[in-house]
Amino acid sequence: MKYISTRGQAPSLNFEEVLLAGLASDGGLYVPEFLPVFTAEEIAAMASMSYEQLATKIMLPFVEDCIDSEAFDAIVKETYGTFSHAARAPLKQLAENEWLLELFHGPTLAFKDFALQLLGRLVDHVLEKRQQQVAILGATSGDTGSAAIEGCRHSKHVDIFILHPHQRVSEVQRRQMTTILADNVFNLAVKGNFDDCQGMVKASFNDQSFLKDRQLVAVNSINWARIMAQIVYYFHAAISLGAPYRSVAFSVPTGNFGDIFAGYLARNMGLPINQLVIATNQNDILHRFMSNNLYQMHPLQHTLSPSMDIVVSSNFERLLFDLYGRRGDQLASVMEKMNAKEDVEIEDYRWQQARKLFDSHAVNDDATLQMIDQLFKQTGEIIDPHSAIGVAAARACSRDPSVPMVTLGTAHPAKFPEAVEKAGIPREPALPPHMADLFSREEKFTVVDNSLEAVQGFMQQHLH
Ligand SMILES: *Cc1c(COP(=O)(O)O)cnc(C)c1O
Repeated sequence: MKYISTRGQAPSLNFEEVLLAGLASDGGLYVPEFLPVFTAEEIAAMASMSYEQLATKIMLPFVEDCIDSEAFDAIVKETYGTFSHAARAPLKQLAENEWLLELFHGPTLAFKDFALQLLGRLVDHVLEKRQQQVAILGATSGDTGSAAIEGCRHSKHVDIFILHPHQRVSEVQRRQMTTILADNVFNLAVKGNFDDCQGMVKASFNDQSFLKDRQLVAVNSINWARIMAQIVYYFHAAISLGAPYRSVAFSVPTGNFGDIFAGYLARNMGLPINQLVIATNQNDILHRFMSNNLYQMHPLQHTLSPSMDIVVSSNFERLLFDLYGRRGDQLASVMEKMNAKEDVEIEDYRWQQARKLFDSHAVNDDATLQMIDQLFKQTGEIIDPHSAIGVAAARACSRDPSVPMVTLGTAHPAKFPEAVEKAGIPREPALPPHMADLFSREEKFTVVDNSLEAVQGFMQQHLH
């Protein structure tokens, strides 16, 4: 499988290269040249598979040029073996034809574990083969950092540096990162905001000379391997609910458009998905685009669902690439306008094409809290604010009540106890047993000034 850039000017790469690459050299994102498509018979045969068997089946075509099937199988088994629920991604019924896909039973309690636990192990495998050392650098507003650290803590080939805004992530989120004491793990609390952190990561990738001969590897959701791993649970859920013989709809709490893009790919690989709902918080650029074909940036708002607080959704470019008939040259000029913060409208027929599959809904903080409360009263389930946005959007947008609607439960409610309390839920969601002592564990992190020199200087000093 070859991977090509959405802007059409960068060299195509194989899986191993794409795993270690960040952005393409032309500023685009890598996508597979074509998708494997499964027939209805093949999908029917998946019904008897374990999550791990299914994961290997779905992902092998994307990686097999670089990783042989036994090695891949072992990596997948080890990855999902770290999850605490035997079903890995259990479906919980909320109402008639309405379901929550619980994606928060991984080690760090958010869906990002599905991708990042795998990514860490794949990177380690490839680097072992190449006898290469790299530095991973990422910025986090919460969930990405802990999942990436957990995925890499055992790697001999990786030093991982995660920047978070000092005193601006929740205590659970900070402790999930800072209580990993491995000596290849470095948490930097930057005296600035998340955008400052992200800006430093971007600048470091653009000019890596401060690292001498050490390659930087990205763990944000532009990394193709993350998207790939997320395709699997769409198959898993839809097959449990009757695919290929029955269509299924999904509602996805969306920030950078990575998770929902994986659903779009699952559909293009043969899964009968008849609707994808883009569920956003007040940072609703995608909802506004889907409603009236206008792509317009608004300032960032801080919400109760911080993992969806974005100004632009980086993976949306991957969908636009298809809407532009995979013409990288045409898309490049559209992206230039978007990046220059111009308002962009695309040709009506392209927008209509997207609207055939996608609906959208924006949910503000009040409605998020109401949804947490309402669902608790209806079912006794406590859900986190991100998942609540998904359920609210699912209920607002469902096109056909006879089609099962699955909301992706993206985080464990114990990760966001403040929001749960604010919603008036009478009991605090408990951390699962493997984290019960989180608040008494030793922490290790370094507070640094909000300056690129400070961060890069720290990295130079601490690389192994
Ligand atoms: C990252 C995250 C999201 C958003 O996912 P995207 O792939 O960026 O759309 C939603 N919910 C939670 C809990 C997250 O951590």
